[in-house]
Amino acid sequence: MPAATPLPPGPAVLTLYSAADLLTGPGCPVCRYADEAASRYLAWFALEGHGDATAVTRLCASLGMCPRHTRGLMSQPGAARRLTALYRYLVRAALDRLAGRAARLAGCPGCEHDDGAAGRALETLLEGLADGPVLDRCRELGGLCIPHVRAASARGDQRVIAWLAQTMTAAITVGPAGSGPGWLAGIDHDADARLALREALPAGALPGSGVCAACLDAGRAEQAQLARLAGSSDRGPDRRLLLCHGHLGDLVAAARGPGVAPLLAWQAECLTAALTRPASFRRRRGIRPADCPVCLASEDAAQRAVDDLRGRLRGAPTAPGFPLCVRHLLRLKAADPRAAQVIAPDAIERGGQLAAELDAAFSKGTWAHRHEAKGPEMTAWRRAAAFLDGGVFCGSPPRGN
Ligand SMILES: [Zn+2]
Ligand SMILES: [Zn+2]
Ligand SMILES: [Zn+2]
Ligand SMILES: [Zn+2]
Repeated sequence: MPAATPLPPGPAVLTLYSAADLLTGPGCPVCRYADEAASRYLAWFALEGHGDATAVTRLCASLGMCPRHTRGLMSQPGAARRLTALYRYLVRAALDRLAGRAARLAGCPGCEHDDGAAGRALETLLEGLADGPVLDRCRELGGLCIPHVRAASARGDQRVIAWLAQTMTAAITVGPAGSGPGWLAGIDHDADARLALREALPAGALPGSGVCAACLDAGRAEQAQLARLAGSSDRGPDRRLLLCHGHLGDLVAAARGPGVAPLLAWQAECLTAALTRPASFRRRRGIRPADCPVCLASEDAAQRAVDDLRGRLRGAPTAPGFPLCVRHLLRLKAADPRAAQVIAPDAIERGGQLAAELDAAFSKGTWAHRHEAKGPEMTAWRRAAAFLDGGVFCGSPPRGN
């Protein structure tokens, strides 16, 4: 009798033989491939990954996924049960980190997977563009979106990049048949969720809410900077105002309708301005996503909040009640273990309570305990996500409590 087919050890890699496999319809071919790969990854996680020992161990090393991927996991059907089980491990891994020595967290495995898929698609397309018919087909379909022309600039040959930039500019005004210009911002299924979370961002202080002070300040700075860019009337081709994929998605999601095309035209100009810098400079530094003005403002605000807290803890080493999410607390610990030691016991206590709630919720989800009354512990997985990284709710209190 033949043996059963073994379960795949990881998410399947989408077949990709040539650029022709990518050029199957209008819109950015890299987005289409990367989006398909990303949704397969999330589906794999829901079906198998969440219970796979290797995948869970990997997630413990990064204390979960990044905010964007975590929101993706949370929006899947059956997320409550799956993430209750997963966060039992993640919260305990965080408690070990808080009690032990400061060590670097691994990157988000979801981002590693998606970046790998986009990189493969981009590489294949750039190779294919040496061929005339492939080039014509790519032009006919509109070329690449703004974030992927930017990504291509770090890899491709100068002439191909210049051609891609021209095709991108032409697509803003003409565009492939039957589509609006919105695809030029790149695919971003998370943009509406971020918009809703930012709109709910509290204006004042949040005493007793447990919200991370650094994530809250970062969220407010991000919102203010996005509002400034959206409201600006004089938008020139300034490479310093070129936004990363996520923040371009934020501007487009907030603008909607007729406001979208001018924003995209402006960002395409900013990208063209960045591309006209000397090639030697770009090879050395690249056009880094970290140069996005909104990322910089938000990162600065978070760092200021951590530094400010560090100063206060140094001045009053017994002062309690300064909450940080685990991610920011670990950052403080790496910079100043003595200051972190003042608030770590409070975080360890909160983490211990969450672990107990997650255990209770997990138990009530089993058949043997299905009749037990369910209480607030059933939403502990949402609070656990915010405890590990306040960016999951863009700095707001966890939703769905
Ligand atoms: Zn794209
Ligand atoms: Zn991620
Ligand atoms: Zn935080
Ligand atoms: Zn950004």
